[in-house]
Amino acid sequence: MSTIAVIGAGTMGRGIAYTAAIQGFAVQLYDVYEDALERAKVEIERLGAKSVERGYLKEEERERLQTITYNGSLQHAVESADVVIEAVLEEMSLKLSVFKELDKYAPAHAILATNTSTLSPTEIGANTSRPDKVIAMHFFNPVHRMKLIEIIRGLDTSDETVNTIEVIGRELGKETVIVNEFPGFVTSRMNCLIGNEAMNMLMEGVASAEDIDKAIKLGLNHPMGPLELADLVGLDSRLRNMNALHRALGEKYRPCPILEKYVKAGRLGKKSGQGFYTYE
Ligand code: NAD
Repeated sequence: MSTIAVIGAGTMGRGIAYTAAIQGFAVQLYDVYEDALERAKVEIERLGAKSVERGYLKEEERERLQTITYNGSLQHAVESADVVIEAVLEEMSLKLSVFKELDKYAPAHAILATNTSTLSPTEIGANTSRPDKVIAMHFFNPVHRMKLIEIIRGLDTSDETVNTIEVIGRELGKETVIVNEFPGFVTSRMNCLIGNEAMNMLMEGVASAEDIDKAIKLGLNHPMGPLELADLVGLDSRLRNMNALHRALGEKYRPCPILEKYVKAGRLGKKSGQGFYTYE
């Protein structure tokens, strides 16, 4: 049995920890804040109970959640890990300092993966002593339901690392795609562009937010409309991603002025109660 250490117990970290434990991995979950770990434990147990109640999970699978170690020491969390998956905030300086610690404390054989949506695994790897073992494993929210892991290989990521992560992806019950590092990978680049075009249409008065989303859902068979999806992701993080793509890939990715205006106003989508839609 392999040991997975998850760094950061926020939305994604706890989703990854939950999924890995259910699939039988030994899981260490670390966060720099004690209360983040406590919240993660409550949320993971609540999701387990709800999933059993609804018949998605067997009782013996739920019991595996009890084996997760909630660890307030990064060193202890990673010292016996085979794979470390980092899910801290999307800031390069923070990720670089976290990877420095991971490189120091994780065993020499351990693969260090980042769940970044947009940042460069090449740059992260270059700041460690093991760039061949650094890779991005891009999970999607909610992790327990979304089928894909986008695997992004950095310039120096070895074939062996890619192959091992593909196997672990399958063991986590997911499908995988392999992407050579390029800004926005496949999913973030495409998703940002679709969302931005929907915002431009709204700004031009082409249709209402409701009708743009309805058209894309029912006409193009997307499970969610691009504006409701942007609200779910958070308009501040969408703007950060658009700005990064704009800098790297040029004019086509210029963030829609409405997006900038909403973020300035504190309308961040679902989490703030208002974005393209209003939430209770
Ligand atoms: P989040 O804000 O919910 O969680 C981040 C966690 O990191 C928090 O619990 C915070 O306490 C912790 N943290 C901060 N500094 C830390 C440190 N030095 N060491 C350990 N933990 C630290 O964020 P999230 O939405 O889970 O996103 C995490 C990563 O996953 C980001 O890189 C993001 O781009 C990526 N991602 C997010 C989504 C999504 O839909 N939310 C989807 C795919 C990828």
